[in-house]
Amino acid sequence: MTYIYQEQNWQSQMSDLITDPHELLNILGLEPEDLLSGAILASAQFKLRVPRAFVTKMQHENPLDPLLLQVLPHHLELEDHAGFVSDPLGEEAANQLPGVLHKYKSRFLLTLTGACAIHCRYCFRRHFPYQENLPKNEDWLNIEKYLLSQPDINEVILSGGDPLTLSNRQLTLWLKRIESLNQIEILRIHSRVPVTISARLDEELASLLKNSRLRIILVVHSNHPNELDDNICQQLSKLSQQDILILNQSVLLKGVNDSVEVLTALSQRLFSARVIPYYLHVLDKVKGAHHFDLGVEDIDRIYTGLLAALPGYLVPKLVREIAGEQNKTPLYGVSIF
Ligand code: SF4
Repeated sequence: MTYIYQEQNWQSQMSDLITDPHELLNILGLEPEDLLSGAILASAQFKLRVPRAFVTKMQHENPLDPLLLQVLPHHLELEDHAGFVSDPLGEEAANQLPGVLHKYKSRFLLTLTGACAIHCRYCFRRHFPYQENLPKNEDWLNIEKYLLSQPDINEVILSGGDPLTLSNRQLTLWLKRIESLNQIEILRIHSRVPVTISARLDEELASLLKNSRLRIILVVHSNHPNELDDNICQQLSKLSQQDILILNQSVLLKGVNDSVEVLTALSQRLFSARVIPYYLHVLDKVKGAHHFDLGVEDIDRIYTGLLAALPGYLVPKLVREIAGEQNKTPLYGVSIF
């Protein structure tokens, strides 16, 4: 038995997210009291948030469903573990202005909203102080001044909170501002919305992106092939034909996608949707996500298997982000774990 949900337009889906652990477990026919009490406790720290369309892809009565594990708050999140901290990537130090993170030489990251369509339990920004950190319209002048003072920056990245939760009107406003700076050639949008509320990839968004003078790259965040139904694959494929480069990045998560078979299927599914597997991230050591962490041997075994199973163009780069480094650190063949 699966949960049936008639998909609405994306705005209606955004305003009808499941936020109550009891409702989610009830829909999936899961009743264990410890699961519910743990979910309620952990949700008080980082709220449950999941689109109904995403829930339709979960298996009924399976507490270990890989999509459910990504979103269901768990009592293990409340444990403290050495090395797992609230700001694992040292983003506070890179936070130059409200909403601005400047970590790498040629790229510059803007967080325009704290909202996401889904709350991923492993998110490295789960403790990020968005509310004190959102750029207002009047902050643009300072952002512009900062960008002009950094001529090496040619790419702006919109990232989580999820930029595709913004209305097209708000997106257009920011797009125009970014386009007005000659030095910016590329706009990269990181979003998990395309694989959780695919209706967001509508004609209006496609036209807005297609008509920009900037080279647009959309990085979708899919971790498991079960997330990618035919409808999502069609939408992604259609968008890629509008001259928009679509990449995927995943996080390697214990219990979710820690097998060669699952990651192979994910890469193949992405490719069928004209999406290129880009990065496979080792978990960022954020407080509350220790139960998703994998040992070095497991990571090595999985990645070696992936290299053997897929052609090179379908193998995402295995990387770790290390606070203060000038780029993501490639891991395969490097003794850096
Ligand atoms: S920022 Fe991305 S990873 Fe984090 S909760 Fe939002 S959608 Fe999930």
